[in-house]
Amino acid sequence: MSKVVKFGGSSLADANQFKKVAEIIRADEERCYIVPSAPGKRFKDDTKVTDLLYQCHERVSAGEDFAKAFKPVRERYDEIIKELGLKLSLEDEYVKIGAAFRDGANSDYAASRGEYLNGIVLANYLGYEFVDAAKGIFFDSKGEFDGDITNACLGAILEKKPRAVIPGFYGAMPDGSIKTFSRGGSDFTGSVVAKAAGAKLYENWTDVSGFLVADPRIVDKPAGIEVITYSELRELSYMGAGVLHEDAIFPVRSANIPINIKNTNAPSDPGTLIVPSADDMSAKYLITGIAGKKEFSAISIEKDRMNSENGFMRRLLQVLENHGIFPEHMPTGIDTVSVVVNSHDLDGQREKLTQRIRDVVRPDHFEIIDGLALIAVVGRGMKSKKGTATRVFAALSHADINIRMIDQGSSELNIIVGIDEKDFENAIRVIYDMFILSEE
Ligand code: ADP
Ligand code: ASP
Ligand code: MG
Repeated sequence: MSKVVKFGGSSLADANQFKKVAEIIRADEERCYIVPSAPGKRFKDDTKVTDLLYQCHERVSAGEDFAKAFKPVRERYDEIIKELGLKLSLEDEYVKIGAAFRDGANSDYAASRGEYLNGIVLANYLGYEFVDAAKGIFFDSKGEFDGDITNACLGAILEKKPRAVIPGFYGAMPDGSIKTFSRGGSDFTGSVVAKAAGAKLYENWTDVSGFLVADPRIVDKPAGIEVITYSELRELSYMGAGVLHEDAIFPVRSANIPINIKNTNAPSDPGTLIVPSADDMSAKYLITGIAGKKEFSAISIEKDRMNSENGFMRRLLQVLENHGIFPEHMPTGIDTVSVVVNSHDLDGQREKLTQRIRDVVRPDHFEIIDGLALIAVVGRGMKSKKGTATRVFAALSHADINIRMIDQGSSELNIIVGIDEKDFENAIRVIYDMFILSEE
């Protein structure tokens, strides 16, 4: 049985990283299907090739000459090819890309060329066959990923190829044009390929030794997570833990394929194993992870006897739906409800929305509170052990952080608190200290 291995942008940022990647692939002959991202940052202030391509597309759309705008992109690939000593020229590909740009190709096409070209280089270096993702990964006419058709077509292609490189991040629309997933979407491609290949494992190679309990940019050297369940991971990635694209678990979850997050720069570290369920595996800490996001707003409504008013919630939700606003959380009291939404969803329609809510639900008090951050404390161990919430609140109150909202998922897998954005980083640190440092 095969393994599908996806390498992120930093793992393929330059020739030296390519060498590490090839060594990893050659170390295990089950690593048959390789999904590369586009070359990422080589150093802190470097620009990812994907971003260079978006910039190039903008510049060409504004009338700049293609060859000039594309130069920073081609330099990245030409350098990798030269330093690896490959007998490969991407000249024909550059010409085709130039022609497509001149024909008005869209920005999805532009961005997708990052993984496309990197796939060609990596396949050449490894001596693997290159399979263009546009031949096996499909979207429907509404632009939604089409899992059934993809699984059937890609499965049939891979059946005939024992080893192949399939570039991440994009697929084809029914008319053959290119569409990308959202940013970070190569993780999703890896998952789709793992399902189509019937792989026994999806290895996701990145620049950290697996999922860490908290974002390493906020907490100094956070502890690693050895095992995490699909559901826990889903909560953490939805709430902004950036290691894995938030949709990446769906294809493998439906096929029961575990994911192993590994570090290209420290390949012998065990990394994090993501499994369907971990009931029989004891966890080191009470919580599995902490993640959070900023830029939320709370639509806060007070109305006497709201609870006994027939259809109150339905009317409120209908108004929000009509404005294309999706409630993230809805903590309710007897006479109060606040609907937490993504602040950007309110852009350009605050006044209209306020008026509509006033007309339809006639609140006694109505207010939109901005600048809210949400933090999720996630852990399968919470269910069986009392006092998790108390410890979260104690940690925050001790640090003088005001809690503006509390929500606990019905699965008892997470506790979500809303706080002021200015307290965001500090809140994550004190929760980390409370659960991890004090248990070490
Ligand atoms: P790749 O380019 O390999 O896809 P990403 O940059 O998308 O890698 O994801 C890895 C990065 O995610 C890490 O370098 C780290 O900065 C960030 N990150 C955020 N939250 C976490 C977390 N909880 N654990 C580990 N890394 C995290
Ligand atoms: N290269 C794309 C991005 O930067 C996709 C990915 O890296 O997963 O978003
Ligand atoms: Mg990524």
